[in-house]
Amino acid sequence: MSSDATPRNVIIIGSGPAGHTAGIYAARANLKPLMFEGMTRGGIPGGQLMITNDVENYPGFPEKVTGPDLMKNFRDQAIHQGVEIQTEDVNKVDFSKRPFRVWIGDDNVEYTARTVIIATGAQAKWLNIPSEHALKGKGVSACAVCDGAFFRKQDVAVIGGGDTSMEEAMYLSGICNKVYLVHRRREFRASKTMQARVFKNPKIEICYDSGIDEILDVSKGEVTGVRLKDVNTGALREIAVTGFFVAIGHTPNTDLFTGQLELHDNGYIKTKPGTSQTNVPGVFAAGDVQDFVYRQAVTAAGSGCTAALDAERWMALNEEH
Ligand code: NDP
Repeated sequence: MSSDATPRNVIIIGSGPAGHTAGIYAARANLKPLMFEGMTRGGIPGGQLMITNDVENYPGFPEKVTGPDLMKNFRDQAIHQGVEIQTEDVNKVDFSKRPFRVWIGDDNVEYTARTVIIATGAQAKWLNIPSEHALKGKGVSACAVCDGAFFRKQDVAVIGGGDTSMEEAMYLSGICNKVYLVHRRREFRASKTMQARVFKNPKIEICYDSGIDEILDVSKGEVTGVRLKDVNTGALREIAVTGFFVAIGHTPNTDLFTGQLELHDNGYIKTKPGTSQTNVPGVFAAGDVQDFVYRQAVTAAGSGCTAALDAERWMALNEEH
């Protein structure tokens, strides 16, 4: 195990809109931020926008922009402003005393920092049923943009009732023959605009009041269908599909911080209202890792800015650099 002896002013963990915006602001304040951009998503840094197709609600882009293009812009701007980016995962942190300690990469190299900004985001939730686990990567996916092309002209199902499920269903309808949208209630929590698009799409059939009893067929090692269970009557029925997409929400990436920071019961990092300050002075959190209400790219970016300004002010009051 080696170490990088000089304490950094700011270490940023995570490279979505929150992390990059924090980096841009910290670099412009001459704090020489160091970012660990992580490789947890199968080797793709950049967070959830990397698996999002069209982004139509990020201000400044009158025409839609793709998630990966938007993240490339964020990253290019961060580098241009002087953020030092290392493509490494953080393995462990120690926030019990200052300077804070962060260990990264296969060689577990130790870095120290006066302040840390956590922007590790959130990731897709799974149903956690055995057949889902057995068929992951064999027809079961949580990312239509990543895997939809495997099901060209075939029938697929999406489960969920939020904006993600609508977006997945719309995207798949452009590739597949038919899309079943399975939801456990009669009302969707997705935005009215997204719902309207889904309702008028002739390729999407909605299965209301339906839970997933089983994804078929584990014995064949591939998805051949889904057995739905009516939540009111318990009646079972099967639909024949070759792809099954899970779009039921997200879990924050906070495993690294359990025992180090105060978390909400749902696992998101607690911050002092109106700020990015965690319960450890000098450690800040921004973006989806601390936001289970808004969860938008633009709110994540805004909170990244807040975190950099909070870190800068905190250092000015508490430390010399
Ligand atoms: P949400 O939490 O909004 O929705 C999750 C959905 O999955 C709900 O309908 C929920 O049902 C259902 N669900 C949860 N657990 C289960 C389960 N075990 N079995 C069956 N169904 C389940 O998550 P999203 O990922 O859709 O969206 C997260 C946030 O991101 C939202 O704020 C959303 O607006 C935003 N977003 C915005 C987009 C855009 O503007 N382009 C695109 C994607 C997301 P129930 O409703 O019954 O609780």
